[in-house]
Amino acid sequence: MSGYEIFYLLDAEDRFLDWGGPAWEGAARDGRATRLATANLTGDRIYDHVAGHFTQRFLRAFFAEARAAPGGLRRTYRCDAPRTKRLMEMWAEPMGEGTLRVRHRLIDETPMAFEVTTRETGDVMGVGHLRCSMCNRLRRRGSREWLEPDALPPAAGPIAVFHTICTDCRRGVAARLPIPAKSAGLTPPAAPPSSN
Ligand SMILES: [Zn+2]
Repeated sequence: MSGYEIFYLLDAEDRFLDWGGPAWEGAARDGRATRLATANLTGDRIYDHVAGHFTQRFLRAFFAEARAAPGGLRRTYRCDAPRTKRLMEMWAEPMGEGTLRVRHRLIDETPMAFEVTTRETGDVMGVGHLRCSMCNRLRRRGSREWLEPDALPPAAGPIAVFHTICTDCRRGVAARLPIPAKSAGLTPPAAPPSSN
């Protein structure tokens, strides 16, 4: 069961019972989720920490389905960093009495063609782009096409976005990386030196 970056336990009402894993600390360090990584989450509903009504609704349905599935449910999604496309897997397992154990792990990563940062505005009318929470693709308002973040013209600063779920992800199409990992030129992280 190694390799999981994040885990958390949710009660039957999707409130945090426990959480941990190296990625909490990593997210705090690189500034992606400082507040989440350092906060005491006990009793908070997970949806209070997830941007976007559609993402919340998607997660709610995923967790409900996972509670009813023997062995739980797994789903790939993207959790990109500004310079890296990161393919993740989320695995939600029922632990009895409505409790759910949710684990997230990195499956693969490839570099972005250029750095892409986004900023959630919370205002669907005030943004030029929608961003899919599951596959991290972006759709310019007025366009029907969901594009990889680095398929858009480079922006001078963070792209103002509103988070939603794209049509493919709503249909259950698995999130993926756009190019095979082997051609990305990334080397796997070195194994930690063995001591004692
Ligand atoms: Zn999507």
